[in-house]
Amino acid sequence: MIDTMIPYGKQDINQEDVDSVISVLQSDWLTQGPKVPLFEQTLANKCQAKYAITVNSATSALHIACLALEVSKSDIVWTSPITFVASANCALYCGATIDFVDIDLSSGNMSTRILTEKLKQAKQKNCLPKVVIPVHLAGQSCDMQAIYQLSQEYGFNIIEDASHAIGGSYQGKPIGNCQYSDITVFSFHPVKIITSAEGGMAVTNNADLAKKMQLYRSHGITSDPEEMTEASHGPWYYQQIALGFNYRMTELQAALGVSQLKRLDHFIAQRNKIAKIYDVAFKETDITPLIANKDCLSAYHLYLILLPEANSEQHKQVIITLREQNICAHVHYIPVHLQPFYQNLGFKQGDFPNAEQYYQRAITLPLHPKLTLQEQNYIIDKVKALL
Ligand SMILES: *Cc1c(COP(=O)(O)O)cnc(C)c1O
Repeated sequence: MIDTMIPYGKQDINQEDVDSVISVLQSDWLTQGPKVPLFEQTLANKCQAKYAITVNSATSALHIACLALEVSKSDIVWTSPITFVASANCALYCGATIDFVDIDLSSGNMSTRILTEKLKQAKQKNCLPKVVIPVHLAGQSCDMQAIYQLSQEYGFNIIEDASHAIGGSYQGKPIGNCQYSDITVFSFHPVKIITSAEGGMAVTNNADLAKKMQLYRSHGITSDPEEMTEASHGPWYYQQIALGFNYRMTELQAALGVSQLKRLDHFIAQRNKIAKIYDVAFKETDITPLIANKDCLSAYHLYLILLPEANSEQHKQVIITLREQNICAHVHYIPVHLQPFYQNLGFKQGDFPNAEQYYQRAITLPLHPKLTLQEQNYIIDKVKALL
């Protein structure tokens, strides 16, 4: 009945997207033209943030966000162990020390209770983090108000990794408004909610952080006379005042991003509709979807279910069997601290027990705007038959 693999996630590209990219190819600007600022302005408006800085990936956005917050060698950064490796790597790029805060099993997000405990202990040992990076797993916001209150008490900065969460909301306000954080980061990789092929964005309400991120995105070079150490030599003049990178997004990517952004609300509605059908289907079963927080509208980047018990052999068999039936079930994520690179830094099995239990229970089922009801019913039948 289903003869090609149903992917767990997939981009949705229409003719308008195609035309917008082609029109850039035929224009004068392939990079550093008008589309990047347009994408930034449109996205900043959409998520009610003051400033937006577009870059070539969310990984780059996380890096310049850390740099703007002056994360360096003597600093400590905390994130969730259940995330893509980039959420942790950004701290290491700055020479900082990374540590993790275990998750709440019901939501998969960083546990506020465990964060509170860890902060108390860190204060006693005089090793508080400079930055905490909560990750909105699957598109559902972390408990940002509580994390913000802790940041006021313990004096750390916050970067929201909202790579999964563009278009979602928290307490009725769009994710990215930075009410409870310094900087929020989005990803536009094709499996995410909207795409620019590769791409990312950092948003903030802080003018100084915005200025620094703009600098780090493009070699640390400025053309603003106000920023320079001496009077301009002439109209060609620029100065390098920091060590930056080439993290710029192209005009082709920005045009695609602008075009995709027009359908963001539609994508979110579609993803929530599909998630609801799964929720209803699994209601009277042993399968537990990640809990939906009442304060949040999830962007539903992923649909995650938990098996009733942590049994790595059964977990593996379910995923293999689903794949044999052309359902590309997946796991998001392998706990970052168990990656060989991180184990070499000293992390080990047992460090974050909730994350490790989650890893043996979590399965990602296909969810994307183009998933048909027929495909979804097929997936539901196969999953139910297996469990
Ligand atoms: C995808 C993702 C990233 C990295 O995004 P890129 O745009 O591919 O660099 C970072 N964090 C999380 C949680 C992600 O899912």
